[in-house]
Amino acid sequence: WWGGVQMGPPDPILGVTEAFKKDTNPKKMNLGVGAYRDDQGKPFVLSCVRKAEALIAAKQVDKEYLPIGGLGEFNKACAQLAFGADNEVLKSGRNITVQTISGTGSLRIGANFLSRFHGGPRDVYLPKPSWGNHTPIFRDAGMQLKSYRYYDPSTCGFDFKGALDDISKIPEKSVILLHACAHNPTGVDPRPEQWKEIAEIVKQRQLLVFFDMAYQGFASGDIDRDAWAVRYFLEQGHNILLSQSFAKNMGLYGERVGGFTVVCNDAEEAKRVESQLKILIRPIYSNPPMNGARIAATILNTPELHSVWLEEVHGMANRIIKMREQLVAGLKKEGSSHNWNHVIDQIGMFCFTGLKPEQVERLSKEFSVYMTKDGRISMAGVTSGNVAYLAEGIHAVTK
Ligand code: PMP
Repeated sequence: WWGGVQMGPPDPILGVTEAFKKDTNPKKMNLGVGAYRDDQGKPFVLSCVRKAEALIAAKQVDKEYLPIGGLGEFNKACAQLAFGADNEVLKSGRNITVQTISGTGSLRIGANFLSRFHGGPRDVYLPKPSWGNHTPIFRDAGMQLKSYRYYDPSTCGFDFKGALDDISKIPEKSVILLHACAHNPTGVDPRPEQWKEIAEIVKQRQLLVFFDMAYQGFASGDIDRDAWAVRYFLEQGHNILLSQSFAKNMGLYGERVGGFTVVCNDAEEAKRVESQLKILIRPIYSNPPMNGARIAATILNTPELHSVWLEEVHGMANRIIKMREQLVAGLKKEGSSHNWNHVIDQIGMFCFTGLKPEQVERLSKEFSVYMTKDGRISMAGVTSGNVAYLAEGIHAVTK
């Protein structure tokens, strides 16, 4: 049956982990995968998650199926977290939010929804570069991928002019994907004034905005500040699509907790959209898993846990910011004459170092430091114990 099936390429990010696992150097570092680690380099389970798990276990809840759209109290809290509890959109009930299989599942449900119902061009415009999974998610749903300039390699920063130029030429009614904060893989975000101009051009072109928010809280340590762009676009009258993930900000990676929201013109339209989302979801996975959504809902809806969570998000974001500073200090100490300011200026879990593929290769061969070929490192894998070694390696391959 399958004689004609050809061997496919390995996943670029998970491939890095495989190479890392085989390496026997005790100093080896895996900076490929974007999962938070504590300062000892260990996977980190938030204490609010442990407490929520204990509360749930004590309740002896049943394991009946969730509705197709997921856990109601999760969905409500999820939208509130993104939009702010007193947002007009929520008050007028013109959003529909469904629980999804983390951010990936949310994007895919969104892509399928677009593919079936978006009347405009089938093109989705992604920033260049974007998270590697965006392309196959939208392509497999039958959409076509285009891009707009985003990253400027000469400054390792945001190509604001290039982005505005390209966005102003996108055909009307196309879909544009925006990373709400902590852009992956570059760590480069527009500033508020720049977001305002982007929102204006997007409005002129009548583009449909799909926000991917996989790192709310992770960029600045402040949940509301990281949702600023999303809320600003709503204020400006954009009826956005939104994907949310709780993988990073609650450390619920393998629990697969996320949300997908469509903001509609009114509550009646939202009801119609909801009915179609259910029709899309039912033949794919029928209904979502409950455990992670219960954990997230318990944290979001229990005031004491909510405040513990905010502190812990803040703590994770701050540790990353500290590692950025220590890495740059380490590079200076090594005597590097390059400008590494972008390492500090970039935001969120990732740092786009600017390292060339051959330098990335040398780092893995000579230092057992593993990262994706594009020179992206997960700052979450850097600790006070290994940051000096990383600086030494980066300096050695860039002098
Ligand atoms: N969007 C972006 C930009 C991401 O970086 C990620 C995680 N790597 C996701 C979505 C979704 O991840 P998950 O499915 O684990 O929530």
